[in-house]
Parts: sequence; C-alpha cells; structure tokens
Amino acid sequence: MTFRFEHSWQADLPGTFLPHQPDPAPAPALAVLNEPLAESLGLDPAALREHGAAWFSGAELPPGAQPVALAYAGHQFGGFSPSLGDGRAHLLGEFRGPDGRLWDLQLKGSGRTPFSRGADGKAALGPMLREYLISEAMAALGVPTTRALAVATTGEKVFRDSGAQRGALTGAVLARVAASHIRVGSFQFLSSRGETDKVRALADYAISRHYPDLTEAPEPYLAFFDAVAQRQARLIAQWMGLGFIHGVMNTDNMAISGETIDYGPCAFMESYAPGTVFSSIDRQGRYAYANQPLILGWNLARLAEAILPLLAADQEQGVAIANERLSGIAGLYRREWLAVMREKLALAGEDEGDGALADDLLAAMQGADWTLTFRRLAGAVQGDHPPLRALFQDFAAMEAWLPRWRARLGPGAEERLLAANPAVIPRNHRVEEALNAAEAGDMAPFLAALEAVRDPFTPRESFMLPAPTGFGGYVTYCGT
Ligand code: AMP
Ligand code: MG
Ligand code: MG
Repeated sequence: MTFRFEHSWQADLPGTFLPHQPDPAPAPALAVLNEPLAESLGLDPAALREHGAAWFSGAELPPGAQPVALAYAGHQFGGFSPSLGDGRAHLLGEFRGPDGRLWDLQLKGSGRTPFSRGADGKAALGPMLREYLISEAMAALGVPTTRALAVATTGEKVFRDSGAQRGALTGAVLARVAASHIRVGSFQFLSSRGETDKVRALADYAISRHYPDLTEAPEPYLAFFDAVAQRQARLIAQWMGLGFIHGVMNTDNMAISGETIDYGPCAFMESYAPGTVFSSIDRQGRYAYANQPLILGWNLARLAEAILPLLAADQEQGVAIANERLSGIAGLYRREWLAVMREKLALAGEDEGDGALADDLLAAMQGADWTLTFRRLAGAVQGDHPPLRALFQDFAAMEAWLPRWRARLGPGAEERLLAANPAVIPRNHRVEEALNAAEAGDMAPFLAALEAVRDPFTPRESFMLPAPTGFGGYVTYCGT
C-alpha cells in the first residue's frame, strides 16, 4: 500500500501552521529510496519506486497529502526568535505504521514558505544525503531518530556560497519520517504569544501522540515534562556514548518525541577532546561535545517556561515546581550517562565506584580515537592489547585504569563489548568523499557508506579508520 494520510495536526492545532504548496520540481528523479524503512512502515517499495520521483521532489503530491508549513519559535545560540517555522519544509500529513503508530511525512528542501525570510527554501543534494546517511547510522546504532525515506533530485540548480560544496549545486528534496515534528520551539511559539489554551492543546496533542499513558496521570502536564526530560536525557546520553555532536541544539531542533532531529552540522568526534566543535557558526563552542548535557538542561528550562501555566494556576507555584524539576536534570542525565557507560564498558551489575571509573577513563583517553578505544577494549579484557595501546600517545593513565576496569567485568565481557561498541561510524572523511562523488553524479561511494553504517557492529577496515592527517580540521555547515 502507499500512504493513507491523516491530518490530525491540522484538525487539533489551528493557528500553528499555514497551508502551502511545495515548489513543482522541473525534472524530478529518485536519488535514493529507503526500501527497508518503507517495508517496516507497511509501505510498498514498488509503488514508492514508481512514484517516488514525483512524490518526494514536490513535483506531484501523493494522493491525500495536504501540505502545510509548521510554525515554531526557538532559541538559536541562546537568542530568542519568536517566529521561525518551516522555511523550506512541508508536512504532507501523517500515516499509520503496521503497529498503528502515527508518523509524519515531511518534505525538506521543497521550496519557499511564508516562514522562509530571506532564504531560498531549497536544499542541495549533498546535505540531504548527509542527513540520510547519518540518520540511518543513528538508527542502526539504536538511537531514536527521524528517518529518511527518500532523497529526490529536482532538476534545478541551487546556489550556495557556504557549505562543503559551493557554487551551482544539484537541487534535492529529502522525504523525512518522524514520530512528530513537535519541538520545544513549537511550545515557545504559542507561549510567547500568550496563547495558553493553545499551549495546552499542543501538550494534549503531544501526550496523546508520544506519551499516551499519561492521559490519566493525576498531573498530566508535570508528568509530560518529566517524560520529555527522561527521553531527552536518555537521547543525549546515547549521543555522548557514541561521540555524536549534534552541532545546533537550538530549542527548535529538540524534538518532544525524544528523537534526534535536524541533521545539519552534526558529526562524530574522532579523537576525544571535550571541547570538540565542527560547526562553522558555533564560534563560542556553545554546542561543543561536552556542553551537550548542559544544553539539554537549558533547553528543558525553556520547555518548562513555555508550559508553566499548565503546571500550576498560580505562577509562583508553577515556578517553584519547574525549578524543583530542573534542579533534578543534571542527576537524571548522569544516571542515563552511567547506564550508557556501564553498557559500553560491559560492567557487571552496578557499583558505587562506576561513576569515577567512567570519569577516569575519559581523563585517560584524551586525544585517542573515541570509537576505536571502546571497540578495542574487547581485546584488552585478558591483558595487554597492542592495537589499543597504538591509539594513545601516552598510555600511562590507561595502563593504570585498565586493571580497575578488569576487576569490574563479569562473564562474556568480550562479547558484550563488541555488541555495545560499534566498529563503524560515519567517518567524516568518508562522508565528505561520498557526498562529493554524489554531487559529481556517482552514487556508488554513498551507497557503500550507507551499507557500512547500517551494519555498524561488523568491522569494515576502510570505514573504521580515522581521517588521514591530510584531511585537516573538519568544518560542518548549517542549512545548506
Ligand atoms: P536549522 O538551522 O536548519 O534548524 O534552521 C533554522 C531555520 O532556518 C528554520 O526555520 C529553517 O526552516 C530555516 N531555513 C534553513 N535553511 C533554509 C533555506 N534554505 N530556506 C529557507 N529557510 C531555511
Ligand atoms: Mg531546524
Ligand atoms: Mg535544518
């Protein structure tokens, strides 16, 4: 079957969207179709192959689609923008997967909308394939994420003077599937306009879509806040475990569902340094690797502010409740991070000293490749492992740490380590190589990279090694 669209957002949330048509693509072609995803969503890959060029480029919409651009606000690098919204995206509608769950289908790069401000509403092939590749990697690594159903080229050129590729580039549209597109910034949009009834309607909608068990909770909005905090804390802990740097954790890029959303300047850290930043515009390092847990708390504070009138009728009381919750976020995150680290280190059960053990590992592994260090611990369960040693310039601190760690291992540690720590991540130089080839008309390197990142626990030598020194300092870009 193909899409059987519903439009619950439009029905339930008036005042949060504008009906708007995608730009018709002059010469659409399907660049890549996510057949495994289509099948898991109960969609017919053959039908999508047949119609995908038209449907996913905006040339011709799938039957039943009612495109809208969603309104949202957001704190961008700490400064509040009351009116952002989908400046180059169209929500076509929602559809149900085989388990009855509702999914959004959105086109990204599909043309200007009333929210575009000065920008062109378009996207280039490279950045859309980048989102496709990295979100597939995240899904395979077990991280909640929006998914890419397809990328279609439009037959138009888009012009870019920043980005990894510049000049006249191949225009493309990404078809994105998400649990929803409700962002912290969606709440901020309504709350900043003083529309408390609509904030409540959005919270009710978010609860029914993502946290249906809370409908009957005695204090559903407080329970909702706690549930979002829990999911986002878990998400950021997973990012940290993988060395993933989102790069633009603005409140409009934080999904209430707990999925990773908006793959712009994100990248995986190679050699471990807490201050690692890749994004060209993040000059202060606000969204540096080690800052992500702090930003989690900062963004949750913005959510709490936006829903404050729902937490208590009396404002002072609402503030007290919110502050009490917010003071618990650091501890919540730490627990989630420790759970991730216990798994990555294959620790047996839980021990009081595990936090210090994990902290001391980080101190000892400065400068070593993040992914390979954890992967190669599997070889160091019994004793010295030269390939682990080879990752370090100074192994002394690791040498002292390893016996403490070995004392915490139980049976089957080696297998557990190999199952918890990927061999393959989207290595920056391989990603760039794949995207450059795609822009030049050769999809083969992209497809090879896709195959590798979809199977991240299987070693593939050429996708495991860090960038050669000639690759230089890696810079990533937003919205290109
Ligand atoms: P982002 O940094 O990608 O999360 O986007 C921030 C805002 O800029 C959102 O409102 C986007 O819709 C908008 N935006 C990004 N790129 C474009 C573009 N090429 N044309 C129009 N709006 C854009
Ligand atoms: Mg965004
Ligand atoms: Mg974006």
